[in-house]
Amino acid sequence: MQYALLNGCKAEAVRGAQGICMCCGQKVIAKCGSINIKHWAHAVADRCDSWWENETIWHREWKAEFPVNFREVNFFDEKLLEFHRADIHTAAGITIELQNSAISLTELQAREAFYPKLIWLVNGLKFKGFKILKSIPDPHHPALDDFEFCLSEHLSMIRKIDALTQNPNPAILNFYHQDLKSVPVSTAFYAFSWRHPHQAWMQVSCPVFIDFGGHFLYRLRKRYQISGHYSYLQLVSKKSFLAKYAIG
Ligand SMILES: [Zn+2]
Repeated sequence: MQYALLNGCKAEAVRGAQGICMCCGQKVIAKCGSINIKHWAHAVADRCDSWWENETIWHREWKAEFPVNFREVNFFDEKLLEFHRADIHTAAGITIELQNSAISLTELQAREAFYPKLIWLVNGLKFKGFKILKSIPDPHHPALDDFEFCLSEHLSMIRKIDALTQNPNPAILNFYHQDLKSVPVSTAFYAFSWRHPHQAWMQVSCPVFIDFGGHFLYRLRKRYQISGHYSYLQLVSKKSFLAKYAIG
């Protein structure tokens, strides 16, 4: 972790120092080697937050975008009698968890149950076989109310009536079809394919923003459909994300 109590103050690790974990109150030792980023580590076997993952530059860069008092905020789970440390917890009560590695569905659901207003910020550069495809119209545009997206890599739709009646051979319509060609194009929404999807992210309940580097995040969204839920991405600038959540 980045912070511990040192002489009574929230402080970063300095070579040779010993501090107190702000989460569980145990002794922590400064680790300031040349390989890992400097951090605090528990002196004895960790009885602290079991959800904590090893920090990377990616974590630190994101944390640095938020006020210091939002970073590493500690909670006690009275039901499970466990300590938890939120990566970011804002003044508005929103928790942002920075997730760099894969997570099990069980742990994901436990965290979603624990934090009342949780947002996942996920390092997409770790995803395998993930491809952002073409832009798509706004899936919630009223002109698409009577249609459903096909769950294929090619952008196409079926009529909702065919989904309702479970027509085994529905007409597959593309956006040149006269019923669809007037639907406005958009540059904010994208289809994607994911060869080896992490099941946890496909079954998540709280908002997920994926960071592939650069100035934009991709919010993972879902359109609920009779013929199967359609997952897609919504482009969100990093700047607007931070303007919304990083204000102290
Ligand atoms: Zn601790």
